[in-house]
Amino acid sequence: RPAPTAQAASAACYVSVVVDIPARALSEPFTYAVSGDLVDGVKVGATVLVSFARRMAAGYVIACAGTPDGLAGAESLDPSSIKPVRAVLAEPAFSEQSVAVARWLSQTYVAPLSECLRLFLPPGHTPRVRRLEDGTYEVERASVQEVHQRVVALTEEGRAFVPPERAVRQRQLVEALACGPVTTSELNALYGGMSATVKALERRGVVTVEERRAWRGCDASTTLSSASGAAPAQLTAGQRRALSAIEHARGLGRGDVVVVDGVTGSGKTEVYLAAIERVLAEGKSACVLVPEISLTAQTVGRFRSRFGDAVAIFHSRLSAGERLDQWDMVHAGVARVVVGARSALFCPFRDLGLIVIDEEHEHTYKQGQSPRYHARELAAYMASLYGCPLVLGSATPSFESLARCAAGSFGGVSWTRVEMPERPAGATLPRIVIADLRREFARGSRSMFSKPLLDGLMRVVERREKAVLLHNRRGFAPFLMCRECGCVPTCDHCSTALTYHERTHTLECHTCGAVHPVRPYPAPGSACPRCGSRYLAKMGMGTQQIEDALRSLLPPDVAVIRMDADSTKAKGSHQRLLEEFDAAECAVLLGTQMIAKGLDFPEVTLVGVVMADYALKMPDFRASERAFALLEQVSGRAGRGERAGEVVIQTYLPDDPVIRAVAAHDRSLFVPADLAQRAELGYPPYVRLVNVVCRGKDRNVTERYVEALAEKIRAIASQEHRVAPAGASGLSAALAADSTERPQVLGPTTCVIERAKDRFRFHVMVKCPVGYDISRVLSRALSEVGARRDVSVSVDVDAYDL
Ligand code: ADP
Ligand code: ZN
Ligand code: ZN
Repeated sequence: RPAPTAQAASAACYVSVVVDIPARALSEPFTYAVSGDLVDGVKVGATVLVSFARRMAAGYVIACAGTPDGLAGAESLDPSSIKPVRAVLAEPAFSEQSVAVARWLSQTYVAPLSECLRLFLPPGHTPRVRRLEDGTYEVERASVQEVHQRVVALTEEGRAFVPPERAVRQRQLVEALACGPVTTSELNALYGGMSATVKALERRGVVTVEERRAWRGCDASTTLSSASGAAPAQLTAGQRRALSAIEHARGLGRGDVVVVDGVTGSGKTEVYLAAIERVLAEGKSACVLVPEISLTAQTVGRFRSRFGDAVAIFHSRLSAGERLDQWDMVHAGVARVVVGARSALFCPFRDLGLIVIDEEHEHTYKQGQSPRYHARELAAYMASLYGCPLVLGSATPSFESLARCAAGSFGGVSWTRVEMPERPAGATLPRIVIADLRREFARGSRSMFSKPLLDGLMRVVERREKAVLLHNRRGFAPFLMCRECGCVPTCDHCSTALTYHERTHTLECHTCGAVHPVRPYPAPGSACPRCGSRYLAKMGMGTQQIEDALRSLLPPDVAVIRMDADSTKAKGSHQRLLEEFDAAECAVLLGTQMIAKGLDFPEVTLVGVVMADYALKMPDFRASERAFALLEQVSGRAGRGERAGEVVIQTYLPDDPVIRAVAAHDRSLFVPADLAQRAELGYPPYVRLVNVVCRGKDRNVTERYVEALAEKIRAIASQEHRVAPAGASGLSAALAADSTERPQVLGPTTCVIERAKDRFRFHVMVKCPVGYDISRVLSRALSEVGARRDVSVSVDVDAYDL
């Protein structure tokens, strides 16, 4: 219950509080006074009870000062008008540095500060304030209980204790404790009721019993680990180069970035482990992000076996209690290495000495809900704040990282790329075969499997091996393609594939929409605009169709396992299907992009990509970058055992630079040209791309709203002068080929998915110079247009899925 209203005049100090009312998005802190009896508990990071807009609410303390003058925005307040803090609801959960991070998130991604601060709270600790009937207030808290356990250990004298021959229980106990302390529950599980014996020996001073906090969530992850913790006898030359670059960056203490650009299996994980070892030796902590824990169990296991109990692990399958305990382990300083998904960055680190992002190109690092942050950008900001290096590892680094490394610096720190082109044991990369579907078509084949893929499958059947077939439909939108020449109609302005709309027989650009004069392409069956062929067909077959074709093609004793969104709906089905594949003698695993990574089955000798063009022709300027990463990843699934692997990529576009680059294992065949095109057309990493999506049940209302919003953004952006780049000097100076000084507003237009969950979706895209303060323009535009109940707006800065 809150304390009675304190007299503001007798305040011991003043605080800035960000009030957290779930239904309202608040960013502005308000000033409150703290009375003498509360002053000990009110610190930065604490959750407090305050009155706000004639109700009681929870809020987070982000600053303290002896007088109002010491708080930003409170200088001119009359102390007697300042309302008091009513009570302390929770101990500090975050530090002043975390407040800086939350502010940065809020500003960069146009998200309420209250929402950004909430990310730092321990799991289950979101306080809600409830008004009771008698007019007083109570704080509800999602209750997650701490668990304690009793730990039995031998005392100094106890080590010399020899139980009498006949005292069997005592002998068992002393034996069990010889190697170290054991919990009472473990003892009971091992030997049955042991409490009487423990008590007896405790009385005699042989053992001690201590109550300790139990850390849930640790045991579950050790079962994932089959990996050994031993470091290799000698690091490769590439590993030594990477490690010394990281050490150099650590020495500078500025938050420099090291991109470890190493082919799959080149030993990147080993580099992280070695670097973290040194960070721990200095008493600091480290944070390692992995794209998806369930797919990287082996990697996680290696951290556990190398660093033991010093590792906290965060993944989506933890229960609330486990999550809380892992968080507390970091808070208490018990765990100094954190391995987890992007949200692991919000752990209560002490003295962060290194941040690692593995597979940094992965799109899972971009958060889909507000605040829509990108873990790479957040980590880069945190690295500079903490003065520790950021290590980005990948076999296919993101174009953002490649461009920044090419420029040498970004955001005031250096970006260095270290290549690791070889695998330690000299293991070979698989042979890549490109199957030209145009030629198959000309030959009269109407099958979805080309000759090379058929031959490969038959060889697998004959030798009783396994094959993986990828049918990628991620971000897929139907498009038209000429089956004779491979031509795909693309937008003149955006150079992305035009999306085919069956209902209206139109092709639309979902980037620029109305701005672009849509070319009146004919419906399927009409002539190809390039070669005049009549075989202009809609592309878009499903995994089910391919499964049927496979089953009728292969002998019945070959297991065909389909893994896609439909077949993995049930909990645990993903794992079950993989086990089925593992157990089968001869099998084909057919799946969407979810099979591209993490799979490590030595019997897989063939990887087939049914239709690489789906990835190449996504209506997205990142299509080539993503296609390359996907094809490289999936190729890495072949030939991991003794037997050599083969990869067959089916395509109508064998001359596409991405296909050529994959075939030659040479990224330079497409990256420079693609980057040059992005610079010319004004795409990231040379501009920042902001996607503003409006959703509403009423089509007209939503459309009118998005039009008004777009107009407003245009108007404000044209008034505003270019804001000085905030710490983005490197890239904008060295790379901004497109010298647009002002944001460019594209659209509005319908989204690629025009209607979802009964809501119509429209979007406006804003391209702005790197370092331009676009969030200010957007915040102003949003507040001037005003919110509508029936239209929801989401702002996605550095958008990925358009
Ligand atoms: P990546 O993370 O780049 O895919 P890993 O670190 O998983 O690569 O290493 C691939 C394999 O090579 C692992 O089995 C690892 O134990 C082994 N390895 C890594 N570094 C060395 C080394 N210096 N000497 C021998 N084996 C190594
Ligand atoms: Zn054609
Ligand atoms: Zn366009």
